[in-house]
Amino acid sequence: MENEKLLFINPATGTKFGEVSMTTPEAVQIAVDEMRKSFPVWSGKSLRERIGILRKFQALLIDQRDEITNILNQDCGKSRQDGLIELFVTVDMLAQYCSQAPKWLRKKRVSSGLYLFKKCFVEHRPYGVVAVIAPWNYPLTLALPPMLAALLAGNTVVLKPSEVTGATGVLIERLIKQVPELTPFVRVVHGNSMVGAALTQAKPDYIFMTGSTPTGKKIMQAAAENLTPVALELGGKDAMIVLEDADLEAAARWGAWGAFFNTGQTCMAVERVYVVESKYDEFVKLALANTKEFKTGYTTDLNSPYSMGPVTDPRQVKTIERHLEDALAKGAHLLTEVKKDGMFFNPIVIENVNHSMLLMKEETFGPIMPIMKVKNEIEAVELANDSRYGLGASVWGRDIKHAKEVADKVEASSVIINDSIAQFGVPMLPFGGVKESGFGRTHGQEGLMQFTRPFSYAVGNPPFKWDIATILRENGHYKLATAIMGVVYGTSLRQKWQTLSQLFHKTSNVTNETTVNTEPIKISE
Ligand code: NAD
Repeated sequence: MENEKLLFINPATGTKFGEVSMTTPEAVQIAVDEMRKSFPVWSGKSLRERIGILRKFQALLIDQRDEITNILNQDCGKSRQDGLIELFVTVDMLAQYCSQAPKWLRKKRVSSGLYLFKKCFVEHRPYGVVAVIAPWNYPLTLALPPMLAALLAGNTVVLKPSEVTGATGVLIERLIKQVPELTPFVRVVHGNSMVGAALTQAKPDYIFMTGSTPTGKKIMQAAAENLTPVALELGGKDAMIVLEDADLEAAARWGAWGAFFNTGQTCMAVERVYVVESKYDEFVKLALANTKEFKTGYTTDLNSPYSMGPVTDPRQVKTIERHLEDALAKGAHLLTEVKKDGMFFNPIVIENVNHSMLLMKEETFGPIMPIMKVKNEIEAVELANDSRYGLGASVWGRDIKHAKEVADKVEASSVIINDSIAQFGVPMLPFGGVKESGFGRTHGQEGLMQFTRPFSYAVGNPPFKWDIATILRENGHYKLATAIMGVVYGTSLRQKWQTLSQLFHKTSNVTNETTVNTEPIKISE
């Protein structure tokens, strides 16, 4: 029987531009098994060798930039330049990881404590086969960095790109095949949620998933069956807080950009704005002026006059419409028109919103900027935290120290002061979530180290007579061991002295500072 086909439909034009056969569950299992077989070869290579191979991949990404942005443009409807931003972030991360990995992955000697005659080390060993499950909103930059980090750490990888942007999955597979030294150590499986489910059930050694919170919960449940460790990078509802002393022009410009970039389909997009009441009217005026600058449309040209493409996933259109309808029914007030043409929306600014509305509580993932007036920054923080999500946040204020104090109170795993979204683009900053935005980190040292498990070892000659271990193991050393513990770890001179002096006193039935009670103690509540 022929495999079900995954069709590649350009969301901007509705035209089909390719297809791929979905991977069957049996073939998913074969891919995982093959990667398990090839794992010893890849992990057995020196880090230097692996870096050399990944640098070839880095060079290929730069060489093939125009093909990559061409496919991203058709697959997502985003402009070629927005596609290049994805590639840029990916290449930047890979370059920095390749230069930092030797330091981060180096075997480390740690203190042996009181085991004075041993040497103790920690090595960072790869898990084995890592499953990377990716979403559609940045199909390149949310698939390649975790895949490359896992490889760098010595794992083999099975990647499952999103079914919504299947062409990027095929593109990634082709790119991997162009680096023959890399090809045996990565497999790409194509298809929908069932293919993803088959991958989680195929017993990979680690699952790294980026996607929505409901899917993350399903994956965690499935992973529990085999106690497979998971990292989940999930949805968000990022708040932007505009303080009294904010540079309003900049806040309005980059706040609008943060809401509308990639048509709002960014996990850490500005999904809600809280502005202190004294600055509210001016901010709204400026935000509207900036919103007018966003032109919606599609072109395959390298330089696009449009700053917003279509919604990529047809399912997302329904969510955007549902959130808008709910907000308007509950009294929200539109400051722009809502124009929908196929998969295209114009950028939408809306006020008079509150937390009874889906628009302020659930992830919208569309080009809507809801703005809410707040009494002061205390109320802004309270509302920002009134969310089950906790991915990023932004705070705007000229007094940076004060803005950071406000940011510290926001329940998020990363914040940016006086900008939007940008913290994701910094390869050295770990990025992830708190609350229902997930856990695990991508980027930064943590983003690489999560693909390793610490392996510890201690070496030395067999225990000497005067080794602490020998003293503790041999009978008759209660008081000596107490004295050593007290002298080394006692938190006061009195405690050090008391434990030491017990060494020189006989055991007694009476307890005082220097004697030990040997009568059984009765214990009850
Ligand atoms: P999604 O949850 O629908 O799908 C994500 C991936 O999981 C896809 O490849 C899908 O096929 C797969 N999948 C679906 N069901 C599965 C199952 N039962 N078992 C295994 N795999 C399964 O998410 P999406 O719509 O592709 O992406 C948008 C979501 O991703 C948004 O919620 C967004 O906020 C989130 N996201 C988070 C981050 C982050 O870093 N935290 C980044 C980008 C996107």
